[in-house]
Amino acid sequence: MSAFQKETVLSVRHWTDSLFSFTATRDPGFRFQNGQFAMIGLEIDGRPLVRAYSMASANHEAALEFFSIKVPDGPLTSRLQKIREGDIILVGRKATGTLITGNLIPGKRLLLLSTGTGLAPFASLIKDPEVYESYETIVLAHGCRQVSELAYGEHLVEGLREHEFFGPLIRDKLIYYPTVTREPFRNRGRITDLIASGEIFSDLELPGLDRETDRVMLCGSPAMLEELHAMLTVRGFVEGNHSVPGHFVIEKAFVER
Ligand SMILES: Cc1cc2nc3c(=O)[nH]c(=O)nc-3n(C[C@H](O)[C@H](O)[C@H](O)COP(=O)(O)OP(=O)(O)OC[C@H]3O[C@@H](n4cnc5c(N)ncnc54)[C@H](O)[C@@H]3O)c2cc1C
Repeated sequence: MSAFQKETVLSVRHWTDSLFSFTATRDPGFRFQNGQFAMIGLEIDGRPLVRAYSMASANHEAALEFFSIKVPDGPLTSRLQKIREGDIILVGRKATGTLITGNLIPGKRLLLLSTGTGLAPFASLIKDPEVYESYETIVLAHGCRQVSELAYGEHLVEGLREHEFFGPLIRDKLIYYPTVTREPFRNRGRITDLIASGEIFSDLELPGLDRETDRVMLCGSPAMLEELHAMLTVRGFVEGNHSVPGHFVIEKAFVER
């Protein structure tokens, strides 16, 4: 049996010159936990060309969704960005990843801190009803360079607020904090700086970072992860993993090659 399942692209939406999302059929046997990733890609000259991708859809949804970068000369995304409805993609049969609620000690507030396509695993997690049962407050922070790059996240959160089931569930619990570094916007600055200075909490009129109550998931650029890892560790937060749950968990949004 191949390590990959062939799935059919159902829809594609381009958000900017460098970002797009797409949905695809899901094999009923493909199981994953919200926040995990799988290897996905295309068959090129009879061979799989695959990369790690977080599922942006939740595990209760019938279709799969992915939120992708377009790297102009990237082996996969230079091709993947051209997919259309009806095309075939490869989806690895095994999902994995550390951004799962089971890797965190129970807490009261869940901070989901992302940059760029690092939003993808959190798109899945904020559609998980159990997350709303487990936490009193969920803060989704998403940092980008330009306002246009926030569009996928804005659309996602708006859709959930209007959703028949999720609307009432998230109204008092999900706090969305988009921020931009290179253009004027209502929230400005890097997520790392906003957390370090406490500005994100004062903007939202919330209490500051507290190890007793806060659990943190991080997904972003290697530099963002390094800075936040150091900042959290200094404050006594312990990183969790599959063997021992902790106060925070980390996943790279991409690897520098
Ligand atoms: C655990 C994990 C989960 C991932 N989830 C996603 C996801 O949900 N969506 C997604 O678009 N990518 C994701 N990636 C990155 C993805 O695996 C590929 O790197 C990306 O699709 C580009 O593939 P490529 O072959 O075109 O270029 P690559 O050769 O893979 O990358 C070329 C260069 O492009 C840059 N780059 C790659 N991916 C990104 C990115 N997402 N954002 C900014 N710069 C990037 C890096 O500098 C990299 O060195 C994930 C990576 C990891 C490790």
